[in-house]
Amino acid sequence: MTASTRSLRSLIVVGVLVAAGAGLVARQPAPAPMRGFSAAGATAQRQVESRFRALPQPDSIRAFHREFTKSPHPATSVRTKEIAEYIAATWKAQGLDEVTIRRYDVLSSNPRTVDVEMVAPRAYRPTLREDPIPEDPDLAQPGVSGAWTSFSASGEVTAAVVYANSGNPADYDELRKHGIDPKGKIVVVRYSNPYSYRGFKALTAQREGAAAMIVYSDPNEDGYTKGDVYPKGPWGPPSHLQRGGIAYDYIVPGDPLTPGWPSIPGQKRIDAKDAQSVPTIMALPMSHRDIQPILEALGGPEAPAAWKGALPITYRLGGADARLHVRIDMQTDVQPNYVVEGRIRGSERPDEWVVLGNHHDAWVFGGVDPSSGTASMMELTKSLGALARQGVRPKRTLVFGAWDGEEVTLTGSTEWGEQFRDELRQKAVAYLNVDASASGPNLELSAVGTLAPMIVELTRDLTTPDGQSLYDHWRAAGSGGGSITSGARRDGELVVTRIGSGTDHTVFINHVGVPIVDMTFDGPYGVYHSAYDSHRWVSTIGDPGFKYAHLMTQLWGTLALRLANAALLPFDVASYAEAVSRFVGALGDIPEAGTRLDTRRLADAVSRLSASGRALDDAMTTALASGAVSRDAAEAVNRDLRSFEQVWLHEPGIPGRPWFKHLLYAPRYTYAAMSLPGVTEAAEAKDWPRAAAQLDLLVTKVDAAVALTDRAAARLAPAPRR
Ligand SMILES: [Zn+2]
Repeated sequence: MTASTRSLRSLIVVGVLVAAGAGLVARQPAPAPMRGFSAAGATAQRQVESRFRALPQPDSIRAFHREFTKSPHPATSVRTKEIAEYIAATWKAQGLDEVTIRRYDVLSSNPRTVDVEMVAPRAYRPTLREDPIPEDPDLAQPGVSGAWTSFSASGEVTAAVVYANSGNPADYDELRKHGIDPKGKIVVVRYSNPYSYRGFKALTAQREGAAAMIVYSDPNEDGYTKGDVYPKGPWGPPSHLQRGGIAYDYIVPGDPLTPGWPSIPGQKRIDAKDAQSVPTIMALPMSHRDIQPILEALGGPEAPAAWKGALPITYRLGGADARLHVRIDMQTDVQPNYVVEGRIRGSERPDEWVVLGNHHDAWVFGGVDPSSGTASMMELTKSLGALARQGVRPKRTLVFGAWDGEEVTLTGSTEWGEQFRDELRQKAVAYLNVDASASGPNLELSAVGTLAPMIVELTRDLTTPDGQSLYDHWRAAGSGGGSITSGARRDGELVVTRIGSGTDHTVFINHVGVPIVDMTFDGPYGVYHSAYDSHRWVSTIGDPGFKYAHLMTQLWGTLALRLANAALLPFDVASYAEAVSRFVGALGDIPEAGTRLDTRRLADAVSRLSASGRALDDAMTTALASGAVSRDAAEAVNRDLRSFEQVWLHEPGIPGRPWFKHLLYAPRYTYAAMSLPGVTEAAEAKDWPRAAAQLDLLVTKVDAAVALTDRAAARLAPAPRR
């Protein structure tokens, strides 16, 4: 689904490329150093990476993409099982070493009936379907679903309609100011820009006592106001529907009946009525074409200016005149999800894992989300399998996961992560997630701070379809976490280090404590979760020629090979400390926190971590340059670095959300990134004693990170003279 970062992109103004002083000196430059490698090691590694990057072919990615997008494949469908079997068979043929299909029996949600009818002031029945278009014959397939959201409750109601803007708590306060009580009403809300997860809108409507929630796509958000609509342009046509899940997976993701443990045979299941992540409200999405007659029929006061969308109507708050009959019958039962796992066994350190993953379930055809990513992954496994057959194996093991049920509750990756939690904590170096690989040319990349410098470094070795280095392309136009005034961004602003949720990296970072990277190439994309997100949309609009899906294959593989082959893991603790320091600074933005919270001890501890990180970096650089690092020392340092992310885990979790164990990151209920969640949530609730206790806890974690970093540096210190 990968929508958490979608809001950031829309805020970013394209910078002006400042020509870096390149090409002034004709002399042959010395080879660029490479984090984690000796000079000789870097030369060999660059040869391996170049050989790898010559293998992926855009036409082959196109063929994989066509296979995945030829028919709808939502989780628990017959086609999804076939796709899992296809991935497994293809991986075996490509030469992967161990290929397994893992079945998880999980609480699932599928529609039997979703029906809406306006009964007053006049009769009207929305189609709840998307119009076929002649240019894209796939849309005429009978398997294309209508409007539905997974984990809607079942029921039937006839009630008055109110319009509640984005469906945030403040919007309901505004309604009450106008004397409108949402209790028992059918609330109409809109998808919002910046993005806010529809599952937060559902929880808010449920808490307000609404009878049902309709969430519609206003043209302001992803339709004609933005530009040409499909098939002419990238934006959503009038009947496009943004399907989606509404489960409360920001409280606990994965199978709702096995919160915190894997849904495999022999494990207990809780009662569905006790499952915290299952909504009790009815919900469905609607297109702006379908909702317009309903909004037009609303009486009541005129909506505030900020609530008005782009439809040519007077937006009103409703409350009495218009009444809808909504009937939803969901099949909510335990069904299998199929996760495919494959490996390329490491030649030297088989028990150290670089994990790569993408989900294969889609709302409909999944053109961008996720099949562009699935196609990139298949081309990646094909290329790395071919290299392994030529005797070029990664030193560490590469583990690939094709997840299922991501669109429902991040289900497959969560169950897999819970099943292998202890092993991952021992063995995993990093998790590299690609959900959608390409809907355009702009690199959007988030990662933990330790990995940011090595990622920026390696983008200098990649070339975009227009012949630019990916690094220059990224600095000039891509994403960025920092503020942009003019000119290109600094290196430190390229990688977004504030990590949200909404895709499969969640279990790895928030629950297991594995460092993560999440990547996509983005562009204007108004057909998200609709049937128009198809093979044709991708091949004619989003990524013609599959050039960026190809570049993603190269980027993903280069990153995996560098992590797999490094002599010393290329982690930069000082860079992490810099990110944490920004998180501490951001606490001052919470009202009253500046005077109520004493963050000096935490800030001091983070400064010590920064100094320790720089010392470790110096020790690693010196050791690699001298060639004097023993195998034992390297193994011990790498073990320290593999466990570094786990320093931030607190087994009881953050207050109220025990599944989320990482103290630096948790998603907000909107899926937006929240840093230092324990402190932040307490401060936002003005619970100052709890905030102070959470701050103390963080100080102990930073101190532990300093100790670990110092220990790793000491292992690399030259032996004292006798
Ligand atoms: Zn996705």
